[in-house]
Amino acid sequence: MKTIYLDNNATTAVAPEVRDAMLPYLTDLYGNPSSMHTFGGQVADAVEAARENLANLLSASPDEILFTSCGSESDNAAIWTAIQTQPEKRHLITTRVEHPAVLNVIQHWERHGYRVTYLAVDSKGRLDMDEYAQALTDDTALASIMFANNEVGNIYPIQRMSEMAHEKGILFHTDAVQAVGKTPIDLNHLPADMLSLSGHKLHAPKGIGALYIRKGVRFRPFLQGGHQERGRRAGTENVPYVVGMGVAAQLALDHMQEERVQTAMLRDKLETGILERITDSMVNGDIENRLPNTSNISFKNVEGEAILLMLDRLGICASSGSACTSGSLEPSHVLRAMGVPFNYAHGSIRLSLSRYTTEEEVDFVVEQFPQVIETLRAISPFKD
Ligand code: PLP
Repeated sequence: MKTIYLDNNATTAVAPEVRDAMLPYLTDLYGNPSSMHTFGGQVADAVEAARENLANLLSASPDEILFTSCGSESDNAAIWTAIQTQPEKRHLITTRVEHPAVLNVIQHWERHGYRVTYLAVDSKGRLDMDEYAQALTDDTALASIMFANNEVGNIYPIQRMSEMAHEKGILFHTDAVQAVGKTPIDLNHLPADMLSLSGHKLHAPKGIGALYIRKGVRFRPFLQGGHQERGRRAGTENVPYVVGMGVAAQLALDHMQEERVQTAMLRDKLETGILERITDSMVNGDIENRLPNTSNISFKNVEGEAILLMLDRLGICASSGSACTSGSLEPSHVLRAMGVPFNYAHGSIRLSLSRYTTEEEVDFVVEQFPQVIETLRAISPFKD
C-alpha cells in the first residue's frame, strides 16, 4: 500500500538533495570544525556556507544565526536569554495557542514567580491587538508570539507585534518553526530580536535547528561549555545536519514562490473536496491568513482519533486535534482556546501538505473521506 503523507507539520521527508549533500560529512569529511588542521578547516567552511544559506533565506546576516539541536532548544534559549539579561523585569507575554516548546517554558517561569499574559484568540484563532497593546509594560522582559500556528496554520501579525514591542523597548521573539520555508520572512524589515526555526519542518533531518539573534541583542547561552558558535552555544557542531539544513534553506529560497502556489492549490482542492462531500464539517482557523500547506477540519460527532485510525488503514497519514490524556480524549489547547464547539473539536483532523504532495494523492483522499466519516458517524456514541 502506498503511503500518502499529509502530516508535514509534524515532520517532513528529507529532500534527496539534502541527503546527498550530507553524505560526505557522514563518511570522509568527519573532521571537527574547531580543529586547527586543514581537514577540520574544510568542515568549518561547510558549516559557514550553511550559515550563509540560512541567513539568506531570512534576509539576515550569517553572524546572527546560531545552530541548535531543534526548534525546542531555540525557543528555550530565546526565553532563557531574555530572562537572564533582564533580571529586573518580571513579566512575560505569549499566546494561548503556542506550541508546548514555548508554552511549557513560559509556564515554568510562571511557577518561579513571573507574571504572564497569555493572549486570548477569537473563534478563528486571531489575536486581539488591543489586548496585546495593553499587556506591553515597562516590566515586560519578553513577548514571544508564534509566527504561524502548527495546528490550524494561522499566520500572526508578527511585523506589527514586533514593532509594538520595540516602541516600548521590549524584546520580541517569534517561534517561526512552522513558517520558515513556507512563507517569506525578511528580517531586514521585520524587527524581531530572535526567531526560532527547525530543520525537520523544511526537508532537513530531525535534530537540527537554529536561533536568529539580531545583532546588538545581548545574549546569555542556554547551553554552556566550550566556545563553539562564538561562545553562544557549547557543543561540537552537528556538521552533517548543519550542512543538510543549509541545503534545505537554499531549496526553500529557490522554490518558495512556486511551491506556495502549488501547495495552496492542492490544499484548497483537498479542503473544498472534503467540505463539499461531507455535511456538518467546517474548517478551523483563519482561512484568509494561514500557511499555504495547512488545513484543519472538524467533523461533527466523530472522534478525531477514530478518523486517524481509519485513514491510517488506507495509508493516509494525518494528525488529529485531540490528545489522549488520562484515558479521555481532550480537544487540543489550540481548539479549546478558539472555543470550537465540543462536538466539533473532538473530530478535528489536520492535513498538512508539502512540495512532494501530488494531485493524485489529493484526489484519492477526497474520494475516501466521505466513506470514513459516514462509517464512523453510524457507530458514533455522540448524537444530537
Ligand atoms: N514550535 C512549533 C510551532 C512547532 O510546530 C514545533 C514542532 O512541531 C516546535 C516548535 C518544536 O520543534 P522541534 O521538534 O524541532 O523541537
